Amino acid sequence: MKEKHISGYRVVIDPYRPISEKDAQATCERIKAQAKRHIDDVGYIAIEHDVEYTCSYCGYEWEDNPDCCADALNEWAANTPELDEL
Ligand SMILES: [Zn+2]
Repeated sequence: MKEKHISGYRVVIDPYRPISEKDAQATCERIKAQAKRHIDDVGYIAIEHDVEYTCSYCGYEWEDNPDCCADALNEWAANTPELDEL
């Protein structure tokens, strides 16, 4: 029987408003400092983020190899020397 075990409980603070990629680190550092100053029993606060890759030509999600548009495929092929050896 499959058993469910949950561990590593943590509290995640999400900024109440969207922040730009440019200002994200500074905004999160400011929130982190405010949280440490105002909340008891905080041992560690980490700033985490997700990373998503998109194609600069068409904006589509970029996975291992570009298969979204010809521009991305051509650029990737030109910059991948292993393809010349095949
Ligand atoms: Zn593309």
